[in-house]
Amino acid sequence: MLLLECLLGLIRFLLGAALFSFMNVVAWRLPRNMDPLKGRSICPRCGRTLDAPDLVPVFSWLFLRGRCRHCGAHIPARYLLVEVLGGVLALGCTRQYGAALGLPDGLFGMSWAALLALAVCGILLSIALIDAETQTIPDRLNFALAICGVAGTALSPAGWRGHIIGAVCVSVPMFLLCLAIDGAFGGGDIKLMAAAGLFLGWQNTLLAMFFGILGGGVYGMYLLAAKKADKKDHFAFGPFLCAGIVLAMLFGEPVLGWYCQFL
Ligand SMILES: [Zn+2]
Repeated sequence: MLLLECLLGLIRFLLGAALFSFMNVVAWRLPRNMDPLKGRSICPRCGRTLDAPDLVPVFSWLFLRGRCRHCGAHIPARYLLVEVLGGVLALGCTRQYGAALGLPDGLFGMSWAALLALAVCGILLSIALIDAETQTIPDRLNFALAICGVAGTALSPAGWRGHIIGAVCVSVPMFLLCLAIDGAFGGGDIKLMAAAGLFLGWQNTLLAMFFGILGGGVYGMYLLAAKKADKKDHFAFGPFLCAGIVLAMLFGEPVLGWYCQFL
């Protein structure tokens, strides 16, 4: 049983790593108007198509010691880190959203809800990377997130009401704030919180926003203190929201439980 559990854990880890590897590519291709689904990955230096031995998540990078198999070009450690993050999040999603031994309850040892949560994490990775690079969030990705939200609502044991409230409880105040203060938030950020809110339900949506503002606030103060920006500058808020959403997904229950003791 322990062996099976380890094997399933490894499969989950590799699934998450492969998904994040793919969403990393999507994040690079979408802002450059390339079709994210078409075309094989190539080495940017020698142009050779990458084959199966190059594409095993995490392990390829480790075995090839971060170099292209053909030309020896250095592959940045960022790729490895993104894949490891995906693998760890796959394990986290399984812990939080449930394991399953097989059909019809799920796949790869993960319940459907856990697989959906992992998909949400993957989309958020692309959103965070693209927003950090271009300060915009593609509507396509927010739409994909909203579809996950609808599916998550359908799977939710708590019913749909909390999810509908989740879709509006942060996004509508953000929108109103935007009407009052021009440029308070980007339109993409508002759509992001509406789509993610549908998936999260209202409690975790509030928590995600809290984490996002905390992270963004600390980063903003750092920029001001380090004199890398002045008060009029903008920086991408999306990556902080994405991190907040993932933290709320994984740790929302214990954090909210702890907080409710004081009420
Ligand atoms: Zn190469």
